[in-house]
Amino acid sequence: MISYEFDYTRPDTVEAALDLLDDDSKILAGGHSLIPALKLRLSAPGKLIDIARIPSLKGIKMDGNELVIGAAATHSDILESDLIKQHLPMFAEGAALIGDPMIRHKGTLGGSLAHADPSADWPAMVLAAEGTVVVQSKTGTRSISSDDFFTGFYSTALESGEIITEIRFPIPAEGTKMTYQKFVQPASRFAIVGCAALRHPDGTARVAFTGVADAPFRDTAVENAVGDWSEEALEAAVALTAQGMEFNVDHYASETYRHHLARVYCRKALKALLY
Ligand SMILES: Cc1cc2nc3c(=O)[nH]c(=O)nc-3n(C[C@H](O)[C@H](O)[C@H](O)COP(=O)(O)OP(=O)(O)OC[C@H]3O[C@@H](n4cnc5c(N)ncnc54)[C@H](O)[C@@H]3O)c2cc1C
Repeated sequence: MISYEFDYTRPDTVEAALDLLDDDSKILAGGHSLIPALKLRLSAPGKLIDIARIPSLKGIKMDGNELVIGAAATHSDILESDLIKQHLPMFAEGAALIGDPMIRHKGTLGGSLAHADPSADWPAMVLAAEGTVVVQSKTGTRSISSDDFFTGFYSTALESGEIITEIRFPIPAEGTKMTYQKFVQPASRFAIVGCAALRHPDGTARVAFTGVADAPFRDTAVENAVGDWSEEALEAAVALTAQGMEFNVDHYASETYRHHLARVYCRKALKALLY
């Protein structure tokens, strides 16, 4: 379906983008979720503000003890970054599993987080890696912990008039292990179930899921149960996966099958962190 007519503008700075942002406009990044929504008439803004080439939103850099990814960094930028491979290898692993090369070259980290598709890969990885989402509005900037960012089905803590500018991550300590394991939807490549897990050198864990429920979530019951990472402890942790969740149901996976997949991918993730 062809989209209706809209104005298009491509500012050079975040400040210029914020000046243009009003109730009748939408931020455009990679366009891989927004443009289909416009074509389906699910959204009808009068103006698109293209932020994909704003230089300050593009880079991946170190800042003190944090790794900072610009909101307009594409999945490919992340996949190819040496800093990512060195400090957050799970992100390169996960980015490689997103869509196909065209999707990876256009889709952005900020766009994926703002859109908050319940099957998107980044939300689980960002939760496991303790990301902080930095947003800017005309009145200043604020930082939102990823633990508080995803609020429900396609919903986030982002307020109108705000643009995600960067996502910050603590640089994991030497010896930290991490992985992203995904059961792929064969057509779109989105996650039917995805599990991101991180094991700190002291044995504590962060475990997060996507695709399972209406929003990505950290599974603190699993995190608390890994204990000494013995075979028994891991099986006990896996048994607790997604307890009490209301599961997504679609023609790819029933509630029972999704719960089963969540346990299987939790086990795969935890076992990948053993050695
Ligand atoms: C065929 C196909 C396959 C895909 N496969 C996968 C997959 O396997 N895994 C996966 O995780 N994803 C997948 N995606 C999603 C894709 O990779 C993008 O992550 C997703 O479309 C959102 O990123 P975008 O940059 O395209 O955002 P856009 O479509 O440009 O924007 C999405 C929404 O976010 C808002 N927005 C964008 N950037 C910002 C910002 N910086 N601040 C505030 N709001 C912002 C926009 O206004 C819009 O509401 C797929 C998409 C397609 C079309």
